[in-house]
Amino acid sequence: MNTFRIGRTSVSVFIGDITTWAGDIIVNAANSGLLGGEGVDGAIHQAGGPSIMEECMEIRKSKGGCPPGHAVITCAGKLRAKHVIHTVGPIWEGGGRREEETLADCYRNSLQLAVEVEARSIAFPNISTGIYGYPKGPACDVALKAVTTWLEEERPDLRLERIDFVCFSPENEQLYVEWLQRYAEER
Ligand code: ADP
Repeated sequence: MNTFRIGRTSVSVFIGDITTWAGDIIVNAANSGLLGGEGVDGAIHQAGGPSIMEECMEIRKSKGGCPPGHAVITCAGKLRAKHVIHTVGPIWEGGGRREEETLADCYRNSLQLAVEVEARSIAFPNISTGIYGYPKGPACDVALKAVTTWLEEERPDLRLERIDFVCFSPENEQLYVEWLQRYAEER
């Protein structure tokens, strides 16, 4: 595990299965319909049990789903977390369709929701870098720029103590660690 301190928050990177993570918030890389699917989304619903999908269905009924870049919150069922935040990453279409802004919004909006429920810890997967095809290097740049910029903003009442990036591939882990090492050196 590699840990970096940014203000009062520790940011860690490691390889793991996010469904086994223990803390306040697990972020899911969902789809707009909130219907579950493959990848990390399927793994979270499978491990968490049906109560997560029941709440997703309620959100579908009231809001019609979740557009790319937005985030919604549900219970975490049987997972060792208090809530799941479902955010919808962009599908990579070459980079000319505001994919970067949408991906950054996923991280910012998830953090904002986490603050609203007074979370102390949150775990992110590498949103959009699986089935949605966002190239891993550029996705890492967007994720860490969004999160570090968000943390650098003045937040005297920030309770978030821990942000974990739970990578599924050594390639992503290495990209994240190298980015954060460069960031730490340049500060
Ligand atoms: P997307 O549709 O946003 O690309 P995916 O679930 O296909 O979502 O992939 C997002 C990332 O989550 C990928 O890097 C994938 O390797 C990773 N991933 C898949 N399963 C898990 C898991 N159980 N824990 C953590 N990360 C996972």
